[in-house]
Amino acid sequence: MLILGPCAAESREQVLLTASQIKDACGERPFIYRAGAWKPRTSPHTFQGVGEEALAWLAEAKALYGVETATEVATPEHVTKALEAGIDYLWIGARTSASPMAVSAIAEAIADRLRLIEYRPAAPDRVQTDFPLKGVLIKNPVNEDAGLWIGNIERLEKTGVPVIAVHRGCGHRPCWAMAHKVRTERPGIPLLLDPSHLSGEAAKVPELLKKIPELGLDGAMIEVHCSPAEALSDAKQQVTPSAISYQLSAISSQLSDGIELNWLRAEIDELDETLWNTIAARMEVSKRIGEWKKANGVAPLQPERYQQIINKLKIKNYELRMKTGKQSFREEFMMKVWELIHEESLRMQS
Ligand code: PEP
Ligand code: MN
Repeated sequence: MLILGPCAAESREQVLLTASQIKDACGERPFIYRAGAWKPRTSPHTFQGVGEEALAWLAEAKALYGVETATEVATPEHVTKALEAGIDYLWIGARTSASPMAVSAIAEAIADRLRLIEYRPAAPDRVQTDFPLKGVLIKNPVNEDAGLWIGNIERLEKTGVPVIAVHRGCGHRPCWAMAHKVRTERPGIPLLLDPSHLSGEAAKVPELLKKIPELGLDGAMIEVHCSPAEALSDAKQQVTPSAISYQLSAISSQLSDGIELNWLRAEIDELDETLWNTIAARMEVSKRIGEWKKANGVAPLQPERYQQIINKLKIKNYELRMKTGKQSFREEFMMKVWELIHEESLRMQS
């Protein structure tokens, strides 16, 4: 499943031009055309989307280029308007996904709307696939909370509409453990990757797309804009339609072997990065401590402080041992790592 299109619908021209360029780039390959009409942004001082007006532009793109369409909904009113405009897929963004009540309200609005349609005199053989809505996509919440993401999937499943999960990371980093959990606990729910919001950088999109066959994901939602530099939102992460055509070849490759191992490796790569970032951040704070000590005539090594840190680490190791049993690592190992960090830290202070 491929969902391509700009972050936001900015003008009729931009919506139609981007759609036609993606269509040319994709050739026979089907895609769903996305564009946000309402943009729930972090700051109120940035572009908030043009609103309802954009739905007509999406409808026009659908009629002109024969593509299905998707837009973001954050309130029940958005649902009503989007369904009236014939939008095929709705997505719930990461900020809305952080609020279970907002997701429930959206789910209810979808169910109400579909019930309205159901109750009209319909053919007796009417089946669920007649739903005017083809699917609802739920992004992971902005905070790393697999339970809430799964809870939201369940809230939406009550509508009877197919639910699709989208991993867009937290901030601009992946949360592979969270995505892995959703994959394991809800294997029947298609899981897409949104490399655009996950990385925040257009240049990182191609590398991330390789994760799709590696992890056995079901597709991607990628932000594509006819003129990324001029985009009114998420300018840095949007790719051009011409770039997307060769990037998509990464997705079409065969599923990799050892998908479970690949998931675990993705998790460990992410942890390694966190580990090094944490060590680097610790060294920075240590440098500032060194400056303070110099300015105040205090020696770099304070034995009682050193002892205090070691005691804390020993307690931590004991807690880990209690939690994980025999498999926890040895105290000697912990001390070795700590000694190395401390040695480097002292060197940086002197
Ligand atoms: C979007 O898809 O444009 C969007 C706002 O995404 P997210 O909710 O993941 O930030
Ligand atoms: Mn965006």
